[in-house]
Parts: sequence; structure tokens; C-alpha cells
Amino acid sequence: MIRLAQPFLGDDEVAAVVDVLRSGMIASGPVVEKFEAAFAAYIGVRHAVAVSNGTVALHAALAGAGVGPGERVVTTPFTFVATANSILHCGAVPVFSDIDADTFNLCPDALDATLERLARAGTPAKAVLLVHLFGLPCDMDAMARVAAKHDVVVIEDAAQAHGATYKGQRVGSFGTASTFSFYATKNMATGEGGMVVTDCDDVAAHVRSMVNHGRVGHYEHDIVGYNYRLTDVAAAMGVVQLAKLEQMNRARRKNAARLDAALAAADGVTRPVEPAGKTHVYHHYTVRHDERDALAAFLRERAIGTGVIYPIALHKQPLYVRLGYGDEPLPAAETAARQVLSLPVHPQLTPADVDAVAAGVLEFLRRPASSD
Ligand SMILES: *Cc1c(COP(=O)(O)O)cnc(C)c1O
Repeated sequence: MIRLAQPFLGDDEVAAVVDVLRSGMIASGPVVEKFEAAFAAYIGVRHAVAVSNGTVALHAALAGAGVGPGERVVTTPFTFVATANSILHCGAVPVFSDIDADTFNLCPDALDATLERLARAGTPAKAVLLVHLFGLPCDMDAMARVAAKHDVVVIEDAAQAHGATYKGQRVGSFGTASTFSFYATKNMATGEGGMVVTDCDDVAAHVRSMVNHGRVGHYEHDIVGYNYRLTDVAAAMGVVQLAKLEQMNRARRKNAARLDAALAAADGVTRPVEPAGKTHVYHHYTVRHDERDALAAFLRERAIGTGVIYPIALHKQPLYVRLGYGDEPLPAAETAARQVLSLPVHPQLTPADVDAVAAGVLEFLRRPASSD
């Protein structure tokens, strides 16, 4: 079976975790500090706060950047549900703005119109929570321009884009605060884990306190906090995975290039784009096809795993429909949800695996028309 995702773990992760276990210090300690310092240096920011997953990282980043109850936060409807839910966790109000059909990321012109509409309605947005979906950076110049025009804070959900760059600068270093996830399937993994990064001292201080019971001194608590801490056990894996991240991303890019070449002539299959100035780290290699469910089933029969990521745009999710969403026109997100299929591209694949994935797609396209 060629799996859609598979963590890239070796003896060094095992040794690092065993070292922590033998040390007897298994909660948040020196290894978390080491992971935070290495991650901040890698992204190119002054502060990194390790947390227990990417979802709580978003909650802490939004709160740290000043998002409070009742405030509007504009985000994409084509992302993992945690992105929008983190806005609800702040008591704030998610507002969905449509995506760009080619990149799957927030469309700058649509964002401008959404922010304009909110301002006119007397409910101006506080923040934009953008997502570098599938590992492709958003158009950060356009995002910054639109955000400045409407005086909103930018927060990056970089849960799928560790190491991706925009004009040579790593994503996660653009926003007032940004977040990462180290869930098992992400470009670097600690099982569960996350990180908030920021260049702003005040935001860092708020996040650091919030994720540790609102602590400001020894058993002194200033805000309603949470226990969102990461353990040294997970951080030990994180330090090793971070050191391998560039190598793992190179392998993803190589696999993606091999798929690109093999699928160049695949009629009716739209391949991912990598616009100039952006490096895609291919958390997913996501194609579009009108019969993607049939394609997925065909590949499954050939022992090739795929993923429909994501099958339902967020405004159409049962939760959001119950909250009154669902009728807003977000056609690009809805079309994407109907057409997308993610093919395996992870670093453990051999060239033969990648060729088998491409051959499966081409075979599907050549299959005789079915009579039913
Ligand atoms: C994975 C992911 C999250 C949530 O991270 P967890 O570590 O699973 O909580 C948030 N946003 C996006 C875009 C993700 O892919």
C-alpha cells in the first residue's frame, strides 16, 4: 500500500526520546526551551512558544494578537475546521472569504471586498487569519496591502507550510503571530504538538502566559489561562525533525516534480501551481478532477492511498450551518471541495512509488468508458 502520509522517523528520534525518558524530566523543561529557540531561529522570528497542538496554537495566537469576543476575523472556507474553530474559541466571529481557484489560498481581491463589506456594515474586522494551504504560501504582498488598507492584523496558520518561503522569507515570519502544527502527518511531526511564533514581545508574553494557566509569577495568575504546554518527550522529536525538515521538504518537492512531469499530459487533471516567488513544500500534492471519487476508488484498488482534503467547505459544515452560515456565495471554495484529490508525495516514497501513483492516474484517464 502506498500511503497518503507517513511520518519520517529514524533512530535519532528514538534516541532523543529515550534520553528524555532516562532524564526523568518528562513534562515541559529544557528540551522544550531548546526546541523553541531552534524553531524561532529557523523561521526567523524572535519568539517561539511550544504548545500541545496546532489548534491551541491558533487560539493562543489570536488571543495574543488581541482578538476578543464579538470581533470579526476573516478566514478561508477551504481549510481544516480547526482554523475557523479557533476563532470561535476566542468568542469571536469567523467570516469566510473566497479562495483563488489556482492556489486554493485566500483571494486578495475577494478579501478586500469582504473587509470593505464588513466595514460598511459597521462591523469592521479585527484580523485576517490566512492559511498557507497544502504548503503553498499565500500572496503575502497582496495580503499585507489589503490588511494595511483596512487596518487589520494578519495571523498566519502555517500548520501545513513549515519551511515554505515567500520571496525568500519563511512563512510564519509575516504575521503579527503565526502558528504551526506537528501532528503526525504534517511536514514535521511530534505526534501531537504545535508552535506559536511572533516578533512582538507583548504578543509573546501574552501567549506564554495564556498557555500556562495565565501564569505571571510563582503561583501568580493574571488572566484566564489554559494548560496548552508541550512535553519534553514531544519536543525531543521536534528538535530532530526540525534538523531534518529541509531534507524532508526537498524530498517532497522532488516527488512533486516527478508527478508534475508524469502528469503533464494528463487531460482533465489540474496539477498544483507554484507561482514565481513562492516555494511550495507540498504538505499535499492536490489535483482537481471532475470525477475525483471515481479516481480515488480506482487508485485504492491499486493499493494507492489518496485523500479528499477537504470534501466540505467550512460554511457548509453542519456546525457552521447551525450557526447560521451556508448561504454566502463562496463558489471557488465549493468547487474545490467537489474536485480536489490529494496524491501521495511524502518523503518516504521511492521513485517507483511516485511512478506507480502517476501510472494509476494515467490508467484511470485511459480506461474504457463505463456502461452504467
Ligand atoms: C493540522 C491543522 C491544524 C490543526 O493542528 P492540530 O495540531 O491537528 O491541532 C490547523 N490548521 C490547519 C490548516 C491544519 O492543517
